[in-house]
Formats: sequence, structure tokens, C-alpha cells
Amino acid sequence: MRATLMYGPGDVRVEDVRDSRVEQPSDALVRITASCICGSDLHPYHSMPAGSAPTHMGHEFIGVVEDTGSEVSTLRKGDLVVAPFAYSCGTCQFCRAGLQTSCEKGSFWDALPQEGGQAEAIRVPLADGTLFKLPVTPDSALMPSLLTISDVLGTGYHAAVSGGVTQGSTVTVIGDGAVGLLAVLSAKRLGAEQIILMGRHTSRTDLGCEFGATDVVAERGEEGVTKVRELTGGFGSHVVLEAVGHMPAYEQAFGVVRPGGTISRVGVPQYEEAPVGMTSLFGGNVTLTGGPAPSRAYMEELLPPILEGSIEPGKVFDATVGLDGVPQGYADMDERRSLKVLLKP
Ligand SMILES: [Zn+2]
Ligand SMILES: [Zn+2]
Repeated sequence: MRATLMYGPGDVRVEDVRDSRVEQPSDALVRITASCICGSDLHPYHSMPAGSAPTHMGHEFIGVVEDTGSEVSTLRKGDLVVAPFAYSCGTCQFCRAGLQTSCEKGSFWDALPQEGGQAEAIRVPLADGTLFKLPVTPDSALMPSLLTISDVLGTGYHAAVSGGVTQGSTVTVIGDGAVGLLAVLSAKRLGAEQIILMGRHTSRTDLGCEFGATDVVAERGEEGVTKVRELTGGFGSHVVLEAVGHMPAYEQAFGVVRPGGTISRVGVPQYEEAPVGMTSLFGGNVTLTGGPAPSRAYMEELLPPILEGSIEPGKVFDATVGLDGVPQGYADMDERRSLKVLLKP
């Protein structure tokens, strides 16, 4: 079968590899019908250490179950399924609490160096707990939107839920990537009244406005903070959804949150140390929350509005490639020619 491998910074190749197959009794083999490149795939695209072993790429996918291990009880050959970006058992204390990214038996896909979602097929461990059945056919026009519940919509929604966005909230979203834009959509869905999107790329912030942003602030740093404060009567916003992960975004977050407010981070932090003192979090009784989204936990809830067409998160995809086009897709996302690239293997 063919699969995407990363060899080093900027070096993505599509190659023939050994066929994935069921290995454990709880595994399913999934033939991938739709997949995509993630903003987080660009981290190793920049910083993968030279001399590392090539890594299979991709953690967001939809496909058809082709084979199942002897213990798999909820899935059958032919089922169309979507996978979250972490696999999980579905039965441990953390899975039952809706925190599947902390599953006692599960992990993120990169724990399986021989498997990846940007490929023709994949072995899915803990298939009963991980995979979520979709009530449509693989050629459904809803496929781009359904694919977003694998990660980017689940992550944006997790940001908004963890931040406590509710009817009437004022929300600031930092970042105009796919997750930031879907954090806007999620905040809108949860009833936010004012949604300020901080981002500089007009084509993206335009989509953000379509998703529900009421204001766009293109300025960054102090200037951006001042703008947001002006837009919120001088007080800042109740909730800040930080979808970038770099220190300047965190600094913007505590700059624009109002006293008693909450900062919810879903951008993977590229730092371990950050201000928490009098002038950042403590002084204003600010709550800091967020983490990797248990996107499996939100699938039941996010499926109906997509099926009804009341939300169209799939609009974040602005390019589609076959497997041969994946290396170019990485380059296009890296150079911001594409927001998010859909893959049809
Ligand atoms: Zn992702
Ligand atoms: Zn579990």
C-alpha cells in the first residue's frame, strides 16, 4: 500500500510500504477514503531532527472497515467510520469521563510509527472505543465537514466548552488557522454574543466572520490587546480561546481576558514556562484551562448539526489532493497558500 512518510524538515514522501493489517484482537483495518493534513503536522515539518527514522504521517481520517480482530464487537466490514486524533479504549475511567486523550490504554497516533492516516489504509487499535460510525456513504457531499470532527472542529469545540462559553459570552479567539476558525463556529454555537477574532489573513478572517465572528482584530501584541479592550468596553472578554500555541499568543490571551475570565488553550504550547503571576493570571482571578481535545467525546454531539447542514465546518478545506499531491499539500499549507488540505487517497 502507499503511505506518507516524513524523512526530515521539508522532506515528505509518498512511498510503497508494508500493508497494514489486523494484528491485535481489538484492531480494525480501515481503508481510508478521506484524510487531511493538519497544522500540527507542520511542527515536525519544521523541526524534525535530522537522522530520525522516517515517520508515517496523518491522524485525521475517515474510511471503510475492511477487517476486524476477534474482540471487536461494535463494527463490521463495510462500516464507514471516522477516527479521532487519539485512539482510546472507551471503557476506562478517563474515557468514561470524556477525557479520551488521557485513556489508560490509548495514545496519539504517533505512538504507532508504522501507521498513519495519510495513507491507503491504517490499523486502528482499540477499534470499538476509537472509531465512530457515520450514517452516510463515502461519496457524501458532507465528507469535508464530517472529517473535521476528527480533530479541528473537535478541538475548536473543546476550547469553547472548556472555556465555559455560554449564552451571551464575550469571546476572543486568537489564531485564524482551521482550529481558530472552528473555535469561532463553536463559540457561536454555544451562544456567544460577541466573538472577536484575532488574525491577519483576510481570506481566513472572512471565513471566520461567516462562522460567526463579530469583529476582527488584525493587530498583534500590545496594539492588538488595546483594540480588543476597546471593543469590550475596556474590560476584556469573558473567555479567550487560544488556538496558536506560541508565547506571544499566550501573552495576548492574558492581555485581553477580563477579571474573573477564562483562558482556554488548544494550540499545542511550544513553551513549558509562562507567566502566571500578579500581572498575568493571579491579579485578575483568571482561570487557565485547555489541553488536547478528546474529540471522540464530542462526535455524538457534533454529528447531527453537520447532517442537518446547520453548520458547515468543512469550509476550512480549500484544496484537495490525491496521495501524490501530499508533499505539495504540506508545502502549500506551510507557505499559507492553503488553509487546510483534504486528501483522497
Ligand atoms: Zn490534527
Ligand atoms: Zn480508555
